Amino acid sequence: MARPPHLPATAALLGAALLLTACGGVGDAARPDGENGVIGIAMPTQSSERWINDGANMVAEFEERGYGTDLQYAEDVVQDQLSQIENMITRGVDALVIASIDGEALGDVLDLAADSDIPVIAYDRLIMGSENVDYYATFDNFEVGVIQGQYIVDSLDLENEDGPFNIELFGGSPDDNNAYFFNDGAMSVLQPHIDDGTLEVLSGQTSMEQIATPRWDGSVAQSRMDNLLSANYSDEEVHAVLSPFDGISLGVIESLRAVGYGTDAQPLPVVTGQDADLSSVRSIIAGEQTQTVFKDTRVLATQTVDMTEALLSDEEVPVNDTETYDNGVKVVPSFLLEPVSVDLDNYHEVLVESGYYEESELE
Ligand code: BGC
Repeated sequence: MARPPHLPATAALLGAALLLTACGGVGDAARPDGENGVIGIAMPTQSSERWINDGANMVAEFEERGYGTDLQYAEDVVQDQLSQIENMITRGVDALVIASIDGEALGDVLDLAADSDIPVIAYDRLIMGSENVDYYATFDNFEVGVIQGQYIVDSLDLENEDGPFNIELFGGSPDDNNAYFFNDGAMSVLQPHIDDGTLEVLSGQTSMEQIATPRWDGSVAQSRMDNLLSANYSDEEVHAVLSPFDGISLGVIESLRAVGYGTDAQPLPVVTGQDADLSSVRSIIAGEQTQTVFKDTRVLATQTVDMTEALLSDEEVPVNDTETYDNGVKVVPSFLLEPVSVDLDNYHEVLVESGYYEESELE
């Protein structure tokens, strides 16, 4: 699927976002009302390109279909996201599309939305603990983890090799429901190999409490990797690192390089990732990060716009999963899209030939 013609390439989007930030508050992108209404779009952060692309893609799609948009980024500050959503409600948006920072923190503000009859679509991340979440548009998050785990199994040829190989595990942010799905998916593939001894976690850190990375912060992951290496790997090599997100992967790779990995004599381990962020695709091309999971934000945007439009027109909202995503109060009807594994062998086909990135952006 090609990028809509009027949508600039990612580099231009980044530039536009910086410009917006420079001229008027963080990600303050309120637009005039459209003929079909206004959609409030609350996104978590501009620190990772995927969310910039998600926001830009949705604005373009909604506007094409006659909706105004109010797109806000909260730079991972929960209180700012709450205020932004409150403002959207006060302004009288017709629907809210929210990618939460802390999935547990939105209950009160969503009560306000419900009082004003504003429907809510959870975008990519499930909003927890509230009955006022109407639909959920996302990727198959368990499958994302399966893809990462399977990549490690295949790269180390664990079906044929006895090992033992050393692996360290990283998890996502503990306040993001997705983090548990990614980890469960990956461990469904890796745990049998840990149990039979072909994989060893020398640090012993395997539970989400031990391996989580608050706010998906790459520098937190880097410090944790520094500690893991100095405590466990002075006489041993790391062969694989399960990383759930590109920002974490790059932090881990920094740490590994600082102690000498990345040479012929001491190659980097297999390092997974997620999002196909530009810097990670460049790292894959440079032979550092090994893999990422691509989730096409163009497709997620279109899916979300379709769902919002159906909801506002009292038509049947397209969903393909009504069982998996229980937010503690209700099972939220969902549409799950398919993630795709990307590495050196297929990045060109998946990312360049599909028009997601320009070849020149990857240099
Ligand atoms: C998203 C991932 C992303 C992570 C960090 C998750 O909720 O599903 O695509 O890598 O957040 O931003």
